[in-house]
Amino acid sequence: MPSHLHFTSMLLGATPPANSAPLIGLMGGTFDPIHFGHLRMAQELAEALNLSEVRFIPSATPPHRDQPTSSAKQRAEMVALAIADNPLFKLDTRELEREGYSYTIDTLQSLHEELQGKARLCLLMGMDALAGITSWHRWQELLQFAHIVVATRPGAVLPADNLALAGFLQTHTVSSLPQLYTQAHNGIYIQCITALDISATHIRHQLQIGQSPRYQLPDSVLDYIHRYHLYS
Ligand code: ATP
Repeated sequence: MPSHLHFTSMLLGATPPANSAPLIGLMGGTFDPIHFGHLRMAQELAEALNLSEVRFIPSATPPHRDQPTSSAKQRAEMVALAIADNPLFKLDTRELEREGYSYTIDTLQSLHEELQGKARLCLLMGMDALAGITSWHRWQELLQFAHIVVATRPGAVLPADNLALAGFLQTHTVSSLPQLYTQAHNGIYIQCITALDISATHIRHQLQIGQSPRYQLPDSVLDYIHRYHLYS
């Protein structure tokens, strides 16, 4: 891990300056299926950053990985079930309504146009996602529309030999949360969160071999998986 990165291990919670635009968190992913790793990350980042809401944005056709096992509609329905009891969490299906690959830059651009400066955007991601960000479509432009807030994830480390990524972090990492309010965009912040070693890949594998993934995801999502015989 590069030494210049600033870590915050305590969830202090940023106090937004008076009259500053609210910050909206954007949680992209395949959510195949959604699990407590996603939900806990969203909750902790929402509290640490004082986010006004977190939007869960399921990817229809992710460009950088195997295509999801369940349909886009099923993944969105599982997200809806998982977030139903949290007024801070919203489902945003814009990537499911677009044709072609689900590029994050297009999502940021469309949200930016829609919000017209009334709120600012924080793209939330786990450390494994940050590790691969330099392969994303137009990755250098992401910060023109949003801050990037990265949550630690068990087993995820940044590659030591990616100079483009190191330079990106060196240039944009902010050392304190309040900077995410004073700057409109262009900041990267890394936040330590509760380590939950849960992944959708492992949940799918457990279901395939007939084991129960219980206690790693909401019961409502597991009921849905069983009802539609997903991943078995
Ligand atoms: P898969 O195993 O299928 O790759 P996943 O569990 O990594 O799936 P994604 O939908 O790909 O889930 O992840 C969406 C976002 O949530 C990514 O930014 C990822 O880094 C983050 N994330 C997922 N699980 C965790 C976790 N346990 N802790 C921290 N971040 C997580």
